[in-house]
Amino acid sequence: STYVASEDRYERLEYGSCGNSGLNLPRISLGLWQNFGGDRDFEGQRRILRRAFDLGVFHFDLANNYGPPPGSAEENLGRILARDLKPYRDELVITTKAGWVMGPGPHQQGGSRKYLLSSLDRSLERMGLDHVDIFYSHRPDPDTPLEETLMALHHAVVSGRAMYAGISSYGPTLTRLAAEIMHDLGTPLIVHQPSYSMLNRWVEDGLLDVASDKGMGVVAFSPLAQGLLTDRYLDGTVPADSRAGVGRPSWRDNMLTEPVLERARALHEIASRRGQTLAQMAIAWVLRDQGPRTVTTALIGASSVEQLEQNLAAVENTHFTDEELSDIDRWAVD
Ligand code: NDP
Repeated sequence: STYVASEDRYERLEYGSCGNSGLNLPRISLGLWQNFGGDRDFEGQRRILRRAFDLGVFHFDLANNYGPPPGSAEENLGRILARDLKPYRDELVITTKAGWVMGPGPHQQGGSRKYLLSSLDRSLERMGLDHVDIFYSHRPDPDTPLEETLMALHHAVVSGRAMYAGISSYGPTLTRLAAEIMHDLGTPLIVHQPSYSMLNRWVEDGLLDVASDKGMGVVAFSPLAQGLLTDRYLDGTVPADSRAGVGRPSWRDNMLTEPVLERARALHEIASRRGQTLAQMAIAWVLRDQGPRTVTTALIGASSVEQLEQNLAAVENTHFTDEELSDIDRWAVD
């Protein structure tokens, strides 16, 4: 059946500007890292993306290597665009990245101009697009001069392959430097994409300040700690269809432990008192008011429409009392 987007899609979810730029992002965004590969049911993926767009999620985050296999998430998005979402292309914010390993040899990983620009061309082919909205350097590369990586982002923008440029997982010092270099090149670095959750608070130690100083938006990825901050694992078992059951979270061995589950259970209790699920509170907490350091959007994953809908309801309460915040701080430690 022909897809027609819901007419009230911009009334469902708040959105706001990404740092000092004119680009707007919804408060919750959807990433295609793990649930949109060649190993997942295509019709299920299609349902999730259509529902997301209907509910106001107009920002879809990808990278060259998302799958598995690498590249398949971009191919699947390309197929869903062709079937359903192409008429809405100019409303969508579609992002991709290069930096992590895409293939063998020195030019399919890292931060070289050669890798970044050839990878971006392949990403565009897979998605059937002539540009992305944000192109990111996926991680800092100590073996490539920072200037070279940033020149490649700058070129991606001036050549029309990307509307805006961003960086992911750079530390505060490198982020400040990168923002200054990009400013001098004439392509502002409008966004940083760091990990951030109640179990991973590294950004509070300098990065959020640098981002706000430099007018960069913050796209906080894995606010659910890849599922640890949900009801998925609370009872101590690993569901066969969960990310840990399928076997690909980066924390499988060092995070799915009794001490971490104890913290998750305590946070779950606090969430219940707020009338939220643990997943909803985890997202709301990332989005809480931190003044100029408030994050722009929580970048979630979802393996079903039900998860997506539950998670979007997090925005109904992002206010925390001081007492709730200090309660949470007892358990939300790195
Ligand atoms: P989350 O922390 O939101 O984890 C998502 C996973 O949590 C889902 O796949 C699902 O796992 C589980 N989940 C979600 N909602 C619920 C719910 N309501 N109840 C129970 N379980 C739930 O984020 P991700 O780790 O998926 O990352 C999100 C996006 O961030 C990625 O797609 C990517 O775009 C980006 N990212 C960027 C990185 C970077 O280096 N820049 C690195 C990692 C991510 P299950 O499969 O078990 O159902």
